[in-house]
Amino acid sequence: MRNLLRVDSLKEAVRKDGLFLAGGTEILRLNTGVDENADLIDILPLLDKEIREEGDDVIIGSGVTFSDLLSSDIVPEYVKKAALYMCSAELRNQATIGGNIASWRDDSYLIPSLAAASARLLVLEKDGKLKNLGIEEYANCHSLIISITLNRKESVSSFRESLTSHSHAAITAAFGTNECYALKGSGIFFSFDSLKFVSDLSGSASYKSYLASLFRKESGRV
Ligand SMILES: Cc1cc2nc3c(=O)[nH]c(=O)nc-3n(C[C@H](O)[C@H](O)[C@H](O)COP(=O)(O)OP(=O)(O)OC[C@H]3O[C@@H](n4cnc5c(N)ncnc54)[C@H](O)[C@@H]3O)c2cc1C
Repeated sequence: MRNLLRVDSLKEAVRKDGLFLAGGTEILRLNTGVDENADLIDILPLLDKEIREEGDDVIIGSGVTFSDLLSSDIVPEYVKKAALYMCSAELRNQATIGGNIASWRDDSYLIPSLAAASARLLVLEKDGKLKNLGIEEYANCHSLIISITLNRKESVSSFRESLTSHSHAAITAAFGTNECYALKGSGIFFSFDSLKFVSDLSGSASYKSYLASLFRKESGRV
């Protein structure tokens, strides 16, 4: 049976054994592959839910929901476009930006655009120390995300292809200072040359390969 652990601070949360619970849209879903017996550490009440500007930077607290992103005047349009890839309004009201990054899904809505924009993550490690990471560096880290910093002046184009708006995406890709691809069945990639394609229900390997090349070309990168 799962226990729900309440904590008084994020520092206390990172010292506990268990899985962080934010919006819960991923972790409370069936068949996510997460340990269904692990304790849940309720961090949602403690997360930063603010969006603020500092010079050219936009700093987004990890507890900000997809709906909050869309209703903000200062969140860059490329983030809003990616947030709208989550087409369910009910999910958008609940799902957090931090939970989306940490889930590291192969059909991630936000990771490609955030990585393309060279977003920086402020994370809190188990030893209580704060660290600044790029999205790619977060891949093997699983630390608690405090906030995401973006440069408002970045120019990012993103693409997503799925059978229907509610289906899993075959590919989500974004191009800015960096490029990033989420490929169903394969994972998340940070360069075109490292892409690996597999056939699955979202599409054949050759179809995904064609889309990756097409999106890259449409972005003007080649
Ligand atoms: C029907 C359905 C379809 C979905 N389709 C997609 C999809 O196509 N693409 C996609 O990307 N997502 C999809 N999701 C998953 C999910 O809705 C999003 O990824 C969402 O943004 C997760 O955020 P959350 O706040 O609900 O996270 P939670 O469910 O609370 O947590 C998700 C994971 O992130 C960790 N976590 C949460 N917050 C933090 C934090 N601040 N720091 C570190 N770790 C943290 C948790 O421990 C957990 O492992 C879908 C969900 C549903 C129910």
